[in-house]
Amino acid sequence: MYRDRRLTRGNRGGQTQEAHVNDHAPAVPLAPQAGFVQLDPEILEQRAKVRSFMEEHVYPNEPVLDGEDEEAEALVEELRERVKAEGMWAPFIGPEAGGTGRGFLPYAYLNEIIGRSFWAPLIFGCQAPDTGNAEVLHLFGTPEQKDQWLKPLVAGEIRSFFSMTEPEVSGSDPTQLRTTAVRDGDDWVINGHKWFSTGADGAAFAIVMAVTDPDAETHHRASQILVPADTQGVEVVRATQVMGHTGRGWSTHCEVRYTDVRVPVANTVGEAGDGFRIAQKRLGPGRIHHCMRWLGQMQRAFELMCRYALQREAFGGPLADKQTIQNWIADSAVEIQACRLLTQNTAHRIDAGDEARVEISLIKFYGARVLHDVIDRAIQTHGALGLTDETPLSAMYRHARGARMYDGPDEVHRMVVSRRILKEFRAGGTWDFE
Ligand SMILES: Cc1cc2nc3c(=O)[nH]c(=O)nc-3n(C[C@H](O)[C@H](O)[C@H](O)COP(=O)(O)OP(=O)(O)OC[C@H]3O[C@@H](n4cnc5c(N)ncnc54)[C@H](O)[C@@H]3O)c2cc1C
Repeated sequence: MYRDRRLTRGNRGGQTQEAHVNDHAPAVPLAPQAGFVQLDPEILEQRAKVRSFMEEHVYPNEPVLDGEDEEAEALVEELRERVKAEGMWAPFIGPEAGGTGRGFLPYAYLNEIIGRSFWAPLIFGCQAPDTGNAEVLHLFGTPEQKDQWLKPLVAGEIRSFFSMTEPEVSGSDPTQLRTTAVRDGDDWVINGHKWFSTGADGAAFAIVMAVTDPDAETHHRASQILVPADTQGVEVVRATQVMGHTGRGWSTHCEVRYTDVRVPVANTVGEAGDGFRIAQKRLGPGRIHHCMRWLGQMQRAFELMCRYALQREAFGGPLADKQTIQNWIADSAVEIQACRLLTQNTAHRIDAGDEARVEISLIKFYGARVLHDVIDRAIQTHGALGLTDETPLSAMYRHARGARMYDGPDEVHRMVVSRRILKEFRAGGTWDFE
């Protein structure tokens, strides 16, 4: 029922219905200042452009995109061309790498709008895990690696995947990884078993995390290695079904086997033994990119909840009059705003050259929790309708549940935060909330 009458492409089996749960009401005019920092007027203009593109081309096409078939793929390609033509492509990375990015904070403002739709990151060329892989190649790639892989990746001509997690050992503690890359002349020979390699189906290459020196100090044992997906011995075994969803192409989470996979040593990203250091560099920005997108998802769920609460009547009046519902709305509003400010503050720190390790972990676990809770409340407000696929909430909930795991489960981020804070106190200091 969220399917809008303004469909510009397709109308699957008459699914277009009364938009009685229409979740994309006319855009609220932008305030001249979109957050706690004064933004460059160009960013505000870009934000308004992104918002209109979403209204005109993304939300109305979600029913087609959700089909995850050839028609959906063709539509993604068509919309990507429009995004490029309108100068909005790849806003996560700067023009020197082929994008239109202007830093983390400006991206946070754009990405909270792009993040409102599951498909929009793909359409705007800023989808994980390609963004993280592009950042890594941009920071650590050789000129040859950049030419061969980074350029076409940022241009959206190819996709990639990041292959670190293994079913047999704890992904939270990657010092246990078992995949090996053994040097043989000028080649690495890789053997291992991975899963949850997002987007591996149809991708052109992987960045694989493998143990290259088992005798080295724990955090220098592993390396990140570029592996073209068509190399002999790379087998995408299956797309794992996740909470009932298998996906296609970019939306898959795949099990992958590497059997005697031979690639040149020149495919090492950075130096051999730098795998963990590079993973940190990759995951930091990646986590904050996720948080920005989640802001969009939270806000969309919140809007759905508020609209439905005003419309649905029970026990003599609208749900909006019940105190429990009012509490959910108030709690969600404060939590969403807290997440926005935390995300903006973290992005601002990263732009200023700070690694912001604590802030990134704070927003990763807090953002994932708020995302989950806001969507959960919105579902509850909708009653049985909230569980159906007739609003975007059930799919949002499935993705939100994963958010509490990927790029490190909540518990590990809490551990990182408390360890770092306690370290300061142990040394006789205090924690500076500046
Ligand atoms: C949707 C999705 C997409 C993903 N995409 C990718 C990808 O593209 N590439 C990739 O390599 N991986 C990917 N992953 C894998 C993800 O990074 C791992 O799931 C994550 O790191 C946790 O590892 P694990 O699943 O092995 O859980 P484990 O490490 O086995 O942990 C299980 C549970 O133990 C608890 N736990 C762990 N450590 C602690 C601790 N110190 N204190 C308290 N409790 C703890 C937590 O509750 C945790 O959930 C993806 C996962 C999901 C869900």
